[in-house]
Amino acid sequence: MTSVTLRVVETPAELRQGLSGAGRVGLVPTMGYLHEGHAALIRRARAECDAVVVSVFVNPRQFGANEDLGRYPRDLERDLHVAGEAGADLLFHPDVETMYPPGYASTVSVGGVSEPLEGTSRPGHFDGVATVVLKLFNLVQPHQAYFGEKDWQQLAVVRRMVRDLNVPVEIVGVPTVREASGLALSSRNAYLTPEQRGRAVILSRALRAVQEAAAAGGRDTASLRQAGLNVLTQDPEVDLDYLTVVDGDMHERGRVENDPMTRVLVAARMFGVRLIDNLPLWPEGDPA
Ligand code: AMP
Repeated sequence: MTSVTLRVVETPAELRQGLSGAGRVGLVPTMGYLHEGHAALIRRARAECDAVVVSVFVNPRQFGANEDLGRYPRDLERDLHVAGEAGADLLFHPDVETMYPPGYASTVSVGGVSEPLEGTSRPGHFDGVATVVLKLFNLVQPHQAYFGEKDWQQLAVVRRMVRDLNVPVEIVGVPTVREASGLALSSRNAYLTPEQRGRAVILSRALRAVQEAAAAGGRDTASLRQAGLNVLTQDPEVDLDYLTVVDGDMHERGRVENDPMTRVLVAARMFGVRLIDNLPLWPEGDPA
């Protein structure tokens, strides 16, 4: 399917009308400035669903007061092109007043998995994410919704919310798409020059170093972490927030489990841009 078939809708009424009679609906929630990572989600939805909705909404409620809401990259033409090429049918692009009209007063707050890591560094972030994602689920009523593993903790928060609140949707996680260098694609990479993007590859190198330490038999979290830190300290530009190895509940333990949900996560500021990335500790699955 090409971009000619893609329709832009801006209101809940247009959305419902655009979806009337649709069979299996797939939803890909995004904040726009779409890249190949988003396209992978859309293509997966296209392969599995009859109708594919991509939402493009820079959700103010998931940004902290000192974060990059004002300068977050926006380019609807580009989004139309990427979403259309990847096979979307509808692009839902509401404005802030449509999502949060005057008098709006509700927040969805997920406990547990949302609390450490991003939850600590970005207070309120996951409340904003859970709130907008539940609103999008209610508006679109998708059978399946697609999220990237790039935002591993976000995926865990959404899964927790869906289970806890009995939301009738299946959550599908899609592996992270990377540049050939290893850098995870992100809309925020637009803030970096090509040279800076080259330096930012260090984050994925650190994750791989932790994987390698585990493959070499490392099991205590402190020594696995050190393998990653040895990489990160090579560039003074890395202002580390966290590097950790966690289980499926986002808990860091003294020793890692032979469990495919064990994940190594990193967050750091480089060149004034906050970047996150993660990998499974066992790339081939549980080593048993
Ligand atoms: P965002 O627009 O950054 O909010 O991302 C929208 C969705 O795309 C989220 O589910 C992200 O996890 C996912 N995503 C972002 N970057 C990537 C990537 N490099 N690979 C796969 N999924 C991604």
